[in-house]
Amino acid sequence: MSFQCTNPDFYVRSADDAETFAVRRDALCTSEVFRDMFTCCGDSDETLDLHESADSLAALLTLLHHPPQPPTQFKRDEFNLIPKVWNDTKTVIPLPLLPMLFELADKYALPSDSVIGVLAEHLLAHAPEAPLTVFTFALKQGLQNVASKTTQYLQPMANYSLGEVALIPVEAYHRVIQLQDIRVKTMRQYLLSEDLFPHGYGECPSHLREATQLWHTKRMSLAVKLETLTDVAGEMENVAYQEPVQNCVLCRKACIAAVEMLRYKCRKIYRTVDKLPS
Ligand SMILES: [Zn+2]
Repeated sequence: MSFQCTNPDFYVRSADDAETFAVRRDALCTSEVFRDMFTCCGDSDETLDLHESADSLAALLTLLHHPPQPPTQFKRDEFNLIPKVWNDTKTVIPLPLLPMLFELADKYALPSDSVIGVLAEHLLAHAPEAPLTVFTFALKQGLQNVASKTTQYLQPMANYSLGEVALIPVEAYHRVIQLQDIRVKTMRQYLLSEDLFPHGYGECPSHLREATQLWHTKRMSLAVKLETLTDVAGEMENVAYQEPVQNCVLCRKACIAAVEMLRYKCRKIYRTVDKLPS
């Protein structure tokens, strides 16, 4: 990480790597630790030595001079997809850098709203692609909100190895197990009770038996392999592309209606641990 300051009035040096950085004193004062240091040491012009590597120091100075902005987000409501908000990856701080930045922010007491809160938004932006890493790290940092929101992306916990979950406190682990259990049970219940022609509604006289059988076979095979992240409606939608449903107006209409009803119901199921009854 490189660091440049355009109008410096002070110097800090990495004592570890003997590298000096020109900085702005008022930018350093965003940190409570530097503020206290300057208060007790006065306006000395001497270079300040810090026991940090040059890389860490450059990262710290960047945080101080150019506080991070939240990731740029865009909504994708029009596709009715989850998550509804997506982050522009070009504006997200890479995940491997975040632990060091949080550590520096803690160590130098950077403002919690403008720095730590924004870093938390960057951490959350990685939840869809690296849920377990984000979840574990958020718990360690005490970022309950990030940890909680991340639970919607976690694989079934049984899929992870012991080594991967070992760092999760048992209470948090148990909440995720409860969440996933409720999700699977509720999805299965909705799936098995959603009929193609509910109470004969929209019934197709030509394919009643065949289409009903097709729907039933598909939902039974899905019910036994349901997992917390299964897209129930998306899976059942495949029925619309099979005969006799595909080429029959009535069957197809009934199938799409049933799939949409499933999608609506499944979307209402808790996705994060904070929604669970305590
Ligand atoms: Zn039909």
